[in-house]
Amino acid sequence: MSFSRRAALASAALLMIAQPVLAAAPVQPAAKPAAAAKAAPKAAKKAISDFTPSPDAIKAHMTFLADDAMEGREAGTRGYDIAANYVAAQYALLGLKPAGDNGTYKQRVPLLAYRPAGEGAMTLTGADGAPVALKYGEDYLPGAQAQAADLSVEAPLVFVGYGIVDPSRGRDDYAGLDVKGKIVVMLSGAPSSIQTEERAHFSNMNTKRAEAAKRGAVGVISMSSASGEKRRPFAAGIGGMKAWRVTWRNAQDVGAIRAPSAPSLVSISQAGAAKLFAGAPVALDAVMAEAEKPAGAVKGFALPSKVAVTLKTEIEKRESSNVVGMIEGSDPTLKAQTVILSAHLDHIGIRENAKPGEDRINNGALDNASGVATLLEVARGFKNSKVRPKRSIILLCVTGEEKGLIGSDYFANNPTVAKANIAADVNLDMPVLLYPFTDVIAFGADRSTVGEAVKHAGARVGVALSGDPLPEEGLFTRSDHYRFVEQGIPAVFLMTGFQNGGEKAFTTFLKTNYHHPGDDLSQPIDYQAAAKFALVNYEIARELANTPARPVWNKGDFFGNTFAPAGHPSAAR
Ligand SMILES: [Zn+2]
Repeated sequence: MSFSRRAALASAALLMIAQPVLAAAPVQPAAKPAAAAKAAPKAAKKAISDFTPSPDAIKAHMTFLADDAMEGREAGTRGYDIAANYVAAQYALLGLKPAGDNGTYKQRVPLLAYRPAGEGAMTLTGADGAPVALKYGEDYLPGAQAQAADLSVEAPLVFVGYGIVDPSRGRDDYAGLDVKGKIVVMLSGAPSSIQTEERAHFSNMNTKRAEAAKRGAVGVISMSSASGEKRRPFAAGIGGMKAWRVTWRNAQDVGAIRAPSAPSLVSISQAGAAKLFAGAPVALDAVMAEAEKPAGAVKGFALPSKVAVTLKTEIEKRESSNVVGMIEGSDPTLKAQTVILSAHLDHIGIRENAKPGEDRINNGALDNASGVATLLEVARGFKNSKVRPKRSIILLCVTGEEKGLIGSDYFANNPTVAKANIAADVNLDMPVLLYPFTDVIAFGADRSTVGEAVKHAGARVGVALSGDPLPEEGLFTRSDHYRFVEQGIPAVFLMTGFQNGGEKAFTTFLKTNYHHPGDDLSQPIDYQAAAKFALVNYEIARELANTPARPVWNKGDFFGNTFAPAGHPSAAR
């Protein structure tokens, strides 16, 4: 799962404070599936498959994958490659059909790592025509460029508010502005009145840069709002400046970057923003005050200044792979369609700032050896079932999730099966298997007809469905399934719920062991709960594979409208 550690801490803290409220609040549609399961236990039992997931099998997979020998399974390292070989060997043992490159289980994922080389330079020329050099670390931080080791851009500036274009809300922050050939300056994030998952979409720099590029802008400068600065101070970015960013590269070795014609040039501090806004038609203070309002309807304007930015980027090629297997469907027509089960196999590797003698290996037992082990066990369920699924099942273990959902983005853009025939994705990421969970949160279930399968599966297994307890995290956009959503493919991802000790287990995990060497097998892992988690996901995937109608987005759903417009095979009907 790609929580930022900061966000994790914040949400954990928030939950601690909010606990009594949360406990008292009705845990949403919990009642329905549970009641259904109780009301008709026989029918539910009958409907359940002949598959009994094995806690021991899940334990065995996790024991291997979370071992110190995997060195934290970072994408592009030997430890990851060993883990990938393990998964491929398990696929072979299960008799899965290879569905990677050239009749193998591996899909090569060429990676590109890049980071700023040095501090770069930024010069501001204001209304008085005198150039001023801005200061690295005080006024600005350089962006890293996957596509250009050397980049120089000089252009006038236009402030575009949050830089959001959302026809569904009648919003266009570019209205009346000409940004062609200009550098746009924008607030990062998005106004608080926008629904959280949609806000996560609009906050994403990929979304923002795409709008800027569409209008002919030649670069993007981002700045924090006052509350954004409070959440993540500008100064905190200095430490992470040298960190490697990673993307995948295409056959021509070009790094995959959305909207490359409008690159992120620099981020600026409040002090830097004050310099850019000197002599502006609206004072920076007034802009910042407007940005804090729920609607955040900040009007843009041309700034009376231009900047010249020069950046150097260190770029390095790396190699990794996804691991892909298939169970062919039994229906002569439906077998052409696929239901994907995905789980990220990579984790964050070895901790650099560990003290001597301290544990340095981020084993990622629950992030995401647990998800991969679940996937392998679900695959065994399909393979051993007497009744083959009607649609084909793709078992997809991906690399680079922790680098920004990179392996899944590679697969979603370069699938080894026909893209138009991918019916749905069921993603497995970071199931916190530390307590006997009785409910799950199904992200995305209320957005498409996949929700029907989830509801039925929950009832059959006797697991309640709960509402999102962390809406401010926008979790629907934070794991690999989202790369399929961006291709218009309906998706769901289950998190173990907050009932029956779940809230405490989850928040404690986030606070103490998440993205930390403590996420290892010494945690009190409940393998019975793991088996139950495998069963509910198996039931969902099986129903998605067998239902005659292909999953479609719900009418009017934001993500369906955005990514699967009319004509898309998953478009709302
Ligand atoms: Zn993670």
